Amino acid sequence: GDNADEQELTDGFHLIIDALKLNGVETIYGVPGIPITDFGRMAQAAGIRVISFRHEQNAGNAAAIAGYLTKKPGICLTVSAPGFLNGLTALANATTNCFPMILISGSSEREIVDLQQGDYEEMDQLAIAKPLCKAAFRVLHAADIGIAVARAIRAAVSGRPGGVYLDLPAKLFSQTMDAKAGEKSLVKVIDAAPAQIPAPSAVKRALDVLKSAKRPLIIFGKGAAYAQADDEIRALVEKSGIPFLQMSMAKGLLPDTHPQSAGAARSTVLKDSDVVMLVGARLNWLLSHGKGKTWGDAPKKFIQIDIEPKEMDSNVEIVAPLVGDIGSCVSALLEGIDGNWPAPPADWISTVNAKRDENIAKMAPRLMKNSSPMDFHGALGALRTVIKERPDAILVNEGANTLDLARGIIDMYQPRKRLDVGTWGVMGIGMGFAVAAAIETGKPVLAVEGDSAFGFSGMEVETICRYNLPVCIVIFNNNGIYRGTDVNPLGGDVATTVFVENARYDRMMEAFGGVGVNVTTPDELKRAVDAAMNSGKPTLINAVIDPAAGTESGRIGNLNPQSVVRKK
Ligand code: ADP
Ligand code: MG
Repeated sequence: GDNADEQELTDGFHLIIDALKLNGVETIYGVPGIPITDFGRMAQAAGIRVISFRHEQNAGNAAAIAGYLTKKPGICLTVSAPGFLNGLTALANATTNCFPMILISGSSEREIVDLQQGDYEEMDQLAIAKPLCKAAFRVLHAADIGIAVARAIRAAVSGRPGGVYLDLPAKLFSQTMDAKAGEKSLVKVIDAAPAQIPAPSAVKRALDVLKSAKRPLIIFGKGAAYAQADDEIRALVEKSGIPFLQMSMAKGLLPDTHPQSAGAARSTVLKDSDVVMLVGARLNWLLSHGKGKTWGDAPKKFIQIDIEPKEMDSNVEIVAPLVGDIGSCVSALLEGIDGNWPAPPADWISTVNAKRDENIAKMAPRLMKNSSPMDFHGALGALRTVIKERPDAILVNEGANTLDLARGIIDMYQPRKRLDVGTWGVMGIGMGFAVAAAIETGKPVLAVEGDSAFGFSGMEVETICRYNLPVCIVIFNNNGIYRGTDVNPLGGDVATTVFVENARYDRMMEAFGGVGVNVTTPDELKRAVDAAMNSGKPTLINAVIDPAAGTESGRIGNLNPQSVVRKK
């Protein structure tokens, strides 16, 4: 009637967009489809950058790494059931890695789903998401959108960051309400990730343990990189004089070439240290759970800085738990590390440095080999120089050998520039991470990919070309998984780990208007990457690696179960 004409209305579509914009969301990563196609269009029209991918897992990975890079939740938008499930892998991975992310999925009609009457893409998405993320919410009323978005943001970034699922049934989008009341219902989150100050007694305990050390070591994890407390962390290292290790994604928090870096003496410092301070790093499988051969026989004391109290004592006893956010904890420690702080014993420092210099010298000639076909070391030697010359570029890295060797060989110089497979060692993050890294930072991106790893997200080269992103992908092409030389003893099909021989991945890029280059020597590789990074054009370089180069599972072959039964 007449009343309705006079009353200004808003609806679910607009309220979600307004709620996201009010909270500073600038970018959505997603894949369009029912019931969120129009939502994507309207978000774009409202000035949110909506990046459309070819598969939800890659959009989800993009959102997750956007969260890591910015400390704001990355937003991923998917359709119902299958699209949701594709995105869910990335949400679970984000949660595992402590990256803040919100997966928003459209879903089918509650009435039909709950009675299991067989709706289009019917699935109880909320129930499925719940065990795989930090929090999961469903919104049934337009008037609740404001508070739901606020809650999702807070849940994602406060405390230990992680993934949040927001379930939006199709009907919600077109639900209307009074525009004024709608505007009032929006919530701008205040102090989404409050500082968490450590207790003074815990700070003192940690300082006492650290001071008592004869062979101290600090280990930085990606939590320390995420925290963006870069200056405090540098001061802690330099004022204490303690050698440090950086976990894979923490590399560059301090330059890997820093005089106190023990990166190249890793096995020595893990074995021989007597006090280890963990900063935003978990004692999980990547650190051999803090025990066993890797850690040597000498008694060891652990100090751990983490925002998550439950992380303490997860694998071994933590004698000095320091619970709080890393910025606050490190600042508190710094107050106790003044001019009177004793430098670590000189014999420890000289042992560490001698081992490090010896290992670096041993590696050097292998990195300079200009052979064809290339081996991993020769090719990575060239890329190492690229990053040295372009320290603000972002390095994305996945694969088995390609990952393990690049991690050791390519020095990083600035914080949050190395993005890789993380806690799960998952393959498939490559193109999603590359897209988001380019969009969030505006910096050039170098994605160093095993040929197998690339396959999990390879179709996103179209996305990279479509948005004309400054991404240079280098594929270490050794014709297969781990190596390209396995044979099927029965003949017939090729071995399970072998791909098409002499494949030309560079031509995929050309199909979408990007630049494709095929290279066979480290010199050619260096030239091609330089050209790509100078031009900023989307480029894919097919780097031909010796199919016999590479080892089973890279450095983690020990995780493969072995059969003791040999069938004759
Ligand atoms: P890595 O794999 O590099 O060793 P992990 O992912 O295992 O790193 O560990 C990161 C740790 O950092 C997690 O335990 C997480 O709770 C913690 N963390 C994340 N952000 C912060 C922060 N702002 N302050 C303190 N701890 C944090
Ligand atoms: Mg390979």
